[in-house]
Amino acid sequence: MVKEHSFTEKEGYFGDFGGRYAPEILTEALLDLEKTYLRLKKNKKFQKELEYYRKNYIGRPSLLTYAERLTSAWGGARIWLKREDLNHTGSHKINNTIGQALIAKEMGKRRIIAETGAGQHGVATATVGALFGFETVVFMGEEDLRRQKLNEIRMQMLGARVVGVSSGTATLKDATSEAMRDWALNVSNTHYIVGSVIGPHPFPTIVRDFQAVIGEESKKQFKKRNNKLPDAVVACVGGGSNAMGMFYGFLKDKKVKLYGVEAGGKGNLPGEHSATMLFGKPGFLHGTKTLVIQDEGGQVVPAHSVSAGLDYPGVGPEHAYFHSSGRVKYETVSDQAALDAFLEVCRIEGIIPALETAHAFHFAKSLAKDLGKKRDLLICLSGRGDKDVAEVARLTGLSDGGIH
Ligand SMILES: *Cc1c(COP(=O)(O)O)cnc(C)c1O
Repeated sequence: MVKEHSFTEKEGYFGDFGGRYAPEILTEALLDLEKTYLRLKKNKKFQKELEYYRKNYIGRPSLLTYAERLTSAWGGARIWLKREDLNHTGSHKINNTIGQALIAKEMGKRRIIAETGAGQHGVATATVGALFGFETVVFMGEEDLRRQKLNEIRMQMLGARVVGVSSGTATLKDATSEAMRDWALNVSNTHYIVGSVIGPHPFPTIVRDFQAVIGEESKKQFKKRNNKLPDAVVACVGGGSNAMGMFYGFLKDKKVKLYGVEAGGKGNLPGEHSATMLFGKPGFLHGTKTLVIQDEGGQVVPAHSVSAGLDYPGVGPEHAYFHSSGRVKYETVSDQAALDAFLEVCRIEGIIPALETAHAFHFAKSLAKDLGKKRDLLICLSGRGDKDVAEVARLTGLSDGGIH
């Protein structure tokens, strides 16, 4: 069920952050989307349809796995994994694309577009494009196309047109700008499926509500098995949708500590990281007011991360709010540390995680030690790492990149 979350939600603001700062040409479409969504949120038939696809197509509820081997290897808190990697298409992204595709269908749109970084949101969008018969166009940075060739081919097989974007750093930020431009031109027949809790109101709220299923299920599953709540919850943060979906289930349980993990990249200089909470300042990006990595003149500074899905110089406005309120603590993990955690999780637990998720694992390892035994630590395993195999092999010297 999509739940009613109302606090701090005045006209799409979360404290000082959020809002709708989109080009005027999109205002009507955004108001229309908000109106439609508010109506569908309360509509029993819509909720039943969403439930149907969650159960019979995505494969929900996803498993909650006790990671016995990681627990003993790390020597601290018990480690639990919410298995979004087992969803159809391999990550949490499909929770959102199914929901937004149902909205697009209701609004009579025939064409859907999306931006993508690692390609997981692009694949999840191409998938619902096929499932519901939309014309589908996905914008992806040329640099990300190089890193994530497999996902480009998957999208094409699913019938989507993939448009390479070579402006800027040719990564997620540039793909997002290009998707917004396309939407402004084609808004009459097109719905833009934003892939994270970013963008102008109502997108951060819509995406959060569709991802909240992660935290709601986790809480139920954890309680049933342990008759208590976890002591801490960890998730990686790019735009912040898997983390937001997970955290929402525990937000009001003040004893549960929440940690978001951003990409520390290869250093602290501008252009070397995607650590928005650490280095960002209030600003505007892609239609929302949030923390943005920018220079003194307010120009957005390109982000970097070994994982294409975390490579974004902004963050969802509601995360910026949780950062300022202190409800969620944000940490950073470097490229190298994420690569180490990636291989460790493969070898110890028999799970190949996404490089994005590997950032969460690395921080969880030190947190598990700090928490100590008899405590419980829940990690959002946001996606599987098949897409990253060639890039990790190249970076760790396991192969010369011949996997492509
Ligand atoms: C896209 C992606 C992320 C980052 O996006 P969020 O919106 O921050 O969740 C993290 N993990 C995986 C597996 C992804 O595909």
